[in-house]
Parts: sequence; structure tokens; C-alpha cells
Amino acid sequence: MKAIRVHKFGGPEVLQLDDVADPKAGPGQVLVEIKAAGVNPVDTYVRSGNYAILPQLPYVPGADGAGVVKAVGDGVTRLRPGERVWVARQAGYASLVAAEAAMVHPLPAALSFGQGAAVGVPYGTAYRGLHHKGHGQPGETLLVHGASGGVGIAAVQLGVAHGMTVIGTGGTERGRKLVAEQGAHHVLDHTSADYTKRLMEITGNRGADVILEMLANVNLQKDIDLVARFGRIVVIGNRGTIEINPRGTMGKDASIHGLSLWNATPAEVASIMAALSAGLANGTLKPVVGREFPLAQAAAAHQAVLEPGAYGKIVLLP
Ligand code: NAP
Repeated sequence: MKAIRVHKFGGPEVLQLDDVADPKAGPGQVLVEIKAAGVNPVDTYVRSGNYAILPQLPYVPGADGAGVVKAVGDGVTRLRPGERVWVARQAGYASLVAAEAAMVHPLPAALSFGQGAAVGVPYGTAYRGLHHKGHGQPGETLLVHGASGGVGIAAVQLGVAHGMTVIGTGGTERGRKLVAEQGAHHVLDHTSADYTKRLMEITGNRGADVILEMLANVNLQKDIDLVARFGRIVVIGNRGTIEINPRGTMGKDASIHGLSLWNATPAEVASIMAALSAGLANGTLKPVVGREFPLAQAAAAHQAVLEPGAYGKIVLLP
């Protein structure tokens, strides 16, 4: 099979297209012919070697994908060869993958393979942020601080489906239009000088009950100012340091939660998979693919995923 492999950590140029042996479906596994693979920002951090947990070299980057079941291993009865599926955690930038059956789910006919490849990390993270960490409740206000990218679009759709008032931010007009199209009730520009003032006006000076934060090193102090009494700030993305005044959390009994998708317990992972499967099947969750690259152009995709002006997901096509 064809696979992108990293033989040494470094810049995008270390992403190399290799011919490697086909994997086989072991007991409890499903062999999937990957038609689209999701590109997540974390793939670039790992590739550069600057990440807390690094794989052994050489490795195949990526986690999310979608395709067609080619074979099932012993004990797998839930899925059949020929079925369209999305794969969480155990796919990658390769044309074939053998994944644990629990991470492989039917892909509804209305969704493309690209959309299926946009589910795992972005929707899993947004779900964990909104429900497991933020404990968002219907009727509450949700600020998706950075709503135009993979996690943000997922969070907007999840918040709307959950009956929350959703405020999303984007840095470009195109991105903000996309956020509005996903059902956000209010859309703000995180590059404008007065958008935090606008948020307080929109919420009648209450602030947001849950804040899902995509760039905490820029926004954490703003979030402390914007969060409502008893509110929850969830740090999803962060690319540096910031000075904050913790006093702002005290008067409001506000809390700040860190989140790593990889810390989800098996029970939490199972609940995420069940919720996302239901949302994809009933049409409330519709991943948005902004750009597609051929597998061989993984390096260009890694550059694109770090550029400003996010528009949903970037996927690779093996
Ligand atoms: P993405 O698709 O590249 O989107 C990045 C988002 O951040 C865009 O909406 C972008 O908006 C926004 N942004 C840029 N500048 C901002 C600012 N000043 N204030 C608020 N938002 C701003 O990335 P993603 O896949 O959605 O991931 C988002 C972040 O979460 C990344 O840092 C990623 O590494 C992290 N993440 C963490 C976990 C975890 O387990 N903790 C899991 C998944 C992702 P514009 O481009 O429109 O300006």
C-alpha cells in the first residue's frame, strides 16, 4: 500500500510517500481501504518532534479516516466487507489501515468520505469539551472561540443541536459566513478590537456559560472576562504562554479546564462514538471539508493547516 511516513522529525518536507506492506485484519480488527484521511494540527506538532508523546520512527501520521471495509478479523460481526465507514484514532495517511472494530463506524450514505475523515479528532474533541468538561446545558450560552476550523465547526453544530445559544468567532469573512451557515446564533470577528464588548451586549452582560477556547495563549484573559458566573472555560488549543489575572475567576466561581482528547477514558470514548454516530445518522452533524489534497501532497496540507483563515477541515485523498 501507499503511505506517508516520517523517518526523522522535522519540517513538512520529512513527509515521504512510501510503498509499505499491506496490513492485515487481526482478531477484533477491521481492514479499511482509506479513501480520505483527516489532517489535524496535532499531526504537524508530532511531525516536528515538539510534542509530549512521540511515536517511534518511522511512523505513519494521522488518526482520522474514512473508506470501505475490505476484510474483517475473527470475532467482528458488526461490520461487513463493502460497507462505507469512518475510522477514529487508528487511521492515518495511508491507503489501508487495520483498526480495532470499536473505532470503526458506518458512514451514512449522505456523507462523503472526506466528511467521514473530518469526524474523529475534531468532533471527538468538541464533544468532550462541550459535554465532559464544559457540561453545557440546553438554554446556556456557548462561546466557540475559534469556530471556523475543524473543532470549531463541530462545536457549533453540537451546541446548536444541544439547544444552546451559540456564539462563534472567525478571523475572515468567509470563515464567519461558514460559522453562520452551521447555525451559530451570533458570529463575531476575533480580529476586531471590540468583539468582546459585542459579546457582552449580546448576552445582556452575563457572558458565556461555556467557552471552548482554540487559542488560549491569546485569549485566556479575555475568556476570564467574558465567562458568566459559574461558567466553564475549556482550553482546547494553545500555542504559547500568556499572563492572566486569576482574580477574575473568583468572583464568578468560574473554572478553567484543560482538555486532551487522549485522556478520555474507554467509557468516555464509547459515549463520544455513540453520540457522534447518532448525530451523523440523524443529520445534525455535517462535517465541512474546506480543502482536499492528494496523499502525495501531505507536506502542502501540513502547511495549509497552520495558516490563518480556517474553513472547516483539510483532508488527504490516497
Ligand atoms: P484549525 O482547523 O486549524 O482551526 C483553528 C481555529 O483557530 C480557526 O477557527 C481559527 O480561526 C482560530 N483562531 C485563529 N486565531 C484565533 C484567535 N486569535 N482567537 C480565536 N480563535 C482563533 O484547527 P482545529 O483542528 O480546529 O484545532 C484547533 C486547536 O485545537 C488547534 O490548536 C489544535 O491543535 C487544538 N486541538 C486540541 C485537541 C486536544 O485534545 N486538546 C484536540 C484537537 C485540536 P481563523 O482561521 O478564522 O482566524
